[in-house]
Amino acid sequence: GVKVSILHEIPFQEILQKIRELNAKKVLIQTPEGLKKEAQALAEFLGKNGVEAIISGDINYGACDLADREAKMLGCDALIHLGHSYMQLNLEVPTLFVPAFAKVDVVKALEKNLNEIKKLGRKIALVTTVQHIRDLERAKQFLEGKGFRVFIGKGDNRVSFAGQILGCNFTAARVGRDVDGILLIGAGYFHPIGVALATKKPTLAINPYSGDFSWVNTERIVRKRWGMVAKAYDAKKFGVIISTKRGQLRLGEAKRIMKLLKEHGREAQLIAMNYISPEALEGFDFDAYVVVACPRVPIDDAERWRKPILTPPEVELLLGLREEYEFDEILG
Ligand code: SF4
Repeated sequence: GVKVSILHEIPFQEILQKIRELNAKKVLIQTPEGLKKEAQALAEFLGKNGVEAIISGDINYGACDLADREAKMLGCDALIHLGHSYMQLNLEVPTLFVPAFAKVDVVKALEKNLNEIKKLGRKIALVTTVQHIRDLERAKQFLEGKGFRVFIGKGDNRVSFAGQILGCNFTAARVGRDVDGILLIGAGYFHPIGVALATKKPTLAINPYSGDFSWVNTERIVRKRWGMVAKAYDAKKFGVIISTKRGQLRLGEAKRIMKLLKEHGREAQLIAMNYISPEALEGFDFDAYVVVACPRVPIDDAERWRKPILTPPEVELLLGLREEYEFDEILG
């Protein structure tokens, strides 16, 4: 595993200035797992400069999960959200988004894997996650210098930068041009698979930390997910889970899924949760679940769930309304 916490820099001074501009005396700091120490140091720094800081100890996975309500309840005048970029949501307190950028040389990793990148073809789309987004233009220039034609998609309103993908949004990978393949800069398994499924193009992932490359193969996960759909085949009672996290709340989509299930002779009950976990579902008497919240929830650690747990597109597969496998996405 890569220790992300030592690779980021958080601009303390800039944050302090913004907080002063907001005239905030008390703030709540939200942090992802990898930036806990930075959050602690930031709280200390703010305290020394006359701003009272509370650290939110809740696990945070994305800008979809903003603690603005909690901040208000705690009497804070502002929220500092570390690690993720801006997401368009209606918030209850002024919020400062502090995306964390990785200190790693992306171009070096590209240079090392040039022969592999050539196998993609000449016209490529370039995508990455927010950590490396500042290096995307430099990566593009480097590749163009090597004779590639590089396209960076704008993405929809859920993302804040061109070329940026989220686990729930691959719109920036759909460049709408006739590209030969997709080059993804980043670590982890979920994003590369999402990109490959969303674009149906050969996808090469380059990990800028390790310098390793991998060609994305969606076959295994698609087979596994079809297995999950099959397990839900005879399910009668469905729990349809929605999230109370602001950026994961999809009431319209949940209603659509409820309607589909009922039209096809299944029972469906809405369940609202904040943190969705297998343990929290113990004791209910449903045969299967549909998660209409973060699309990663049913897929990450799929083996931990005791009952079949599906995404909305998987429900459509189950009911015979769709044939091709696709990841669930939240569009903005
Ligand atoms: Fe990430 Fe899930 Fe939030 Fe999307 S909904 S930003 S994938 S945590």
